[in-house]
Amino acid sequence: MNAEMTRFTEKSNPSVVVGARRLGESWLVAKRTAVVTLVGDDEFAEKYEPFDGPCCRVCGCTDEDACMNPITGCPCFWVEEDLCSACAAGEASDG
Ligand SMILES: [Zn+2]
Ligand SMILES: [Zn+2]
Repeated sequence: MNAEMTRFTEKSNPSVVVGARRLGESWLVAKRTAVVTLVGDDEFAEKYEPFDGPCCRVCGCTDEDACMNPITGCPCFWVEEDLCSACAAGEASDG
């Protein structure tokens, strides 16, 4: 079910990491807030640049923008290179 998404950051706000993949002549951009937009090729190149830092493969959180554990209220930490503690808990129970 997981489509192959590549991580990008917004040039204007590098703490915003999005997942994006090509869709025809546009880019499908998915934000962590679950907002999905279709961005034209030129606009995409203008707005986004490839992200090359630690980034959770499941929820897309980063060092800059960690997700909060709803139970402990603590920010997540890295369990694997690209898997945060919040999602590791979810994946474990997922099988
Ligand atoms: Zn995560
Ligand atoms: Zn996280």
